[in-house]
Amino acid sequence: MTDGSSGTLYIVPTPIGNLADMSERASAVLREVQAIAAEDTRHSGQLLQHLGIRNELFALHEHNERQRVAAVLERLHRGDSIALISDAGTPLISDPGYVLVQQCRAAGIKVVALPGPCAITTALSAAGLATDRFSFEGFLPAKGQQRRKILQALLSEPRTMVFYESPHRIVDSLADFVTVFGNERQLVLARELTKQFETYLTGSIAEVQQQVLADSNQQRGEMVLMLAGAVVNTDEQDPTIAMATLQLLRTELPLKKAAALAAEIHGVRKNTLYQLALAADKA
Ligand code: SAM
Repeated sequence: MTDGSSGTLYIVPTPIGNLADMSERASAVLREVQAIAAEDTRHSGQLLQHLGIRNELFALHEHNERQRVAAVLERLHRGDSIALISDAGTPLISDPGYVLVQQCRAAGIKVVALPGPCAITTALSAAGLATDRFSFEGFLPAKGQQRRKILQALLSEPRTMVFYESPHRIVDSLADFVTVFGNERQLVLARELTKQFETYLTGSIAEVQQQVLADSNQQRGEMVLMLAGAVVNTDEQDPTIAMATLQLLRTELPLKKAAALAAEIHGVRKNTLYQLALAADKA
């Protein structure tokens, strides 16, 4: 329950590259609140200047969020309304603000989120991958071993997976995608969304990797990686359909490779299929 006399915390998305994506409502809120909490005041100062908004701006970033929250809450309790913005896109989505929102909720302060730009939904809506269910995985770890461990844990994830990625790591990450998921899964790399060089690279993991390695421009800018979910067989006990796929693949591939692919396609154990195929050969 909110107490009525307190101000409101507004969560205000800002453009992820194209200033025309700032909504009228977002601009109005930034104009009307008593103060704006920004991840980087210099960066957001430029946006406000572009919008012709002169308002109090103070810093709230990952290093000071915990210390600042008490002061912000006090102001909200006194009746001031405050807007939270990040450098780009929707605050709290791989950006600061979680502690503040959690504490506002706990203290009965009204929190209002405005819809607006976000790299996840922008990338996903034009990727051509399943969108009925998806999981946002944030940034992958910088270290290869940790990254592969996280990817390994996602091997059987049936939902489309969305990752934020840094241009410095894209080549290494793609190599790890090949190691963990193989060449064939569908992958989309969305780059520089809403900006001049917006690009979607689509295809199998190996095809996207090839395009990125062949053109260093594809290793630049801001990027979102999206991986198709694993195809899961709901009946693990019945490998009949997987065996049919395996026998078909065997007309072109060695047994081991065919078993591995059929296992991945149907979400059954590779060794089960391999042994069944050997038994069928002997029969
Ligand atoms: N809060 C932001 C949002 O709503 O998307 C995300 C902030 S996170 C610190 C920054 C990451 O988001 C970038 O490294 C990139 O992975 C992704 N991103 C942001 N803007 C993007 C853009 N224009 N094109 C592609 N990816 C973008």
